[in-house]
Amino acid sequence: MDFDLTPRAKELYDRLQTFMDEKVYPAESVYEEQLAAAGIHEQPQVMEDLKAAARKAGLWNLFLPHATEWGGGLSNLDYAPLAELSGRSMIGPEALNCSPPDTGNMELLTMFGTDDQKAQWLAPLLDGTMRSAFLMTEPEVAGSDATNIACSIVRDGDDYVINGRKWWISGAADPRCRLGIVMGKTDPDAPTFRQQSMILVPFDSPGVEVVRDLLVLGYNHKAGHCEVTLTDVRVPASNILGSEGSGFEIAQARLGPGRIHHCMRSIGAAERALELMCRRAKSRIAFGRPLGDQGLVQKAIADSRIEIEQARLLTYHAAWLMDRHGNKVARAAISAIKVAVPAMASRVLDRSMQVHGGAGLSQDFPMAEAFARQRALRLLDGPDEVHLRTVARHEMARYADA
Ligand SMILES: Cc1cc2nc3c(=O)[nH]c(=O)nc-3n(C[C@H](O)[C@H](O)[C@H](O)COP(=O)(O)OP(=O)(O)OC[C@H]3O[C@@H](n4cnc5c(N)ncnc54)[C@H](O)[C@@H]3O)c2cc1C
Repeated sequence: MDFDLTPRAKELYDRLQTFMDEKVYPAESVYEEQLAAAGIHEQPQVMEDLKAAARKAGLWNLFLPHATEWGGGLSNLDYAPLAELSGRSMIGPEALNCSPPDTGNMELLTMFGTDDQKAQWLAPLLDGTMRSAFLMTEPEVAGSDATNIACSIVRDGDDYVINGRKWWISGAADPRCRLGIVMGKTDPDAPTFRQQSMILVPFDSPGVEVVRDLLVLGYNHKAGHCEVTLTDVRVPASNILGSEGSGFEIAQARLGPGRIHHCMRSIGAAERALELMCRRAKSRIAFGRPLGDQGLVQKAIADSRIEIEQARLLTYHAAWLMDRHGNKVARAAISAIKVAVPAMASRVLDRSMQVHGGAGLSQDFPMAEAFARQRALRLLDGPDEVHLRTVARHEMARYADA
């Protein structure tokens, strides 16, 4: 296995490093101030400025494995260190048009969209002029098992009529969210994995209502994690994504890359927390010497470095498998990192908060909010237990003779 960056990725990495140092980190406090003044779901001007600068620097849509006129064309392995770098800042991914849930939605439209669907929705998403949401989870049924999804999508002449209640829908509170990709049941009598379909729902359709915004451990996300109801929502039959009954197949295509991208960014969040931990340990004096002179603080730093390196190698390995053998073969490896990385990042963030004392839990440092995100990652895109099940089943399948 060769985890060396290709020359193109190395050049992009250096450019992104400069962009993060010169543009993104200095913009973080401005972003917070503008957001506080404008309202939590509004777009701060500084983000639009960052997006324009990223685009000009050729740092746009790096996540997209398919090359397009709007950028893209990197392997998963080449994207991994870039996503990690962007994940060091809460505002990094969006500045590069590489933030979820749009990234997964753009991949779906690239892979399964018709020419018309691409022109209407993919083009503005790749252009960064609109945002989107992915509506799968429902409050009434266990989302860990997507066969439970109850939202109905019923054919009526040239239309489909959609009824259902979804929640935890990331991005739905953003005023620029114009598209929802909805998963629901088109045929309750079909074989289990052919019952579901995905359909494109313009967010301004009559019957789509964003009911409320959910907080994550008390944090209100800028783009929102919302409860959304769909009541007799009527869309043209041509809005179906792929074909009727292909919802599961499409969901798998979406979630594989989405999961590894989360992990790449999480490693960046852990790296930043470790850097801050070291800086604090060297500058803060207690009991007559810097905190970093204490063996226990050194252990926190050393454990963090070891765990980050382990998690990064596991992630690179999964990326390498995806590039070399495809997302299906890499399934268990992706599940493994989806469990290992948020757990690792949570531990590192926790240690960093501890070394910072009270300050670490405040809004003056990025650890507390990042910690809430890592905690949520243990649930979103599949809870840990479901991924552990995938890893265990994959492992046991090797002993078919037993
Ligand atoms: C911040 C955030 C953002 C999200 N964004 C989106 C989004 O944009 N779109 C969307 O559709 N959804 C989104 N989700 C929803 C997320 O994907 C679901 O919460 C997740 O899939 C789990 O479904 P559930 O909440 O219904 O939990 P349930 O399915 O009710 O599961 C509850 C618990 O049961 C246990 N469990 C489940 N299966 C097993 C098993 N096989 N073995 C052992 N224990 C098990 C686990 O501990 C699990 O956490 C988001 C969630 C969060 C927190």
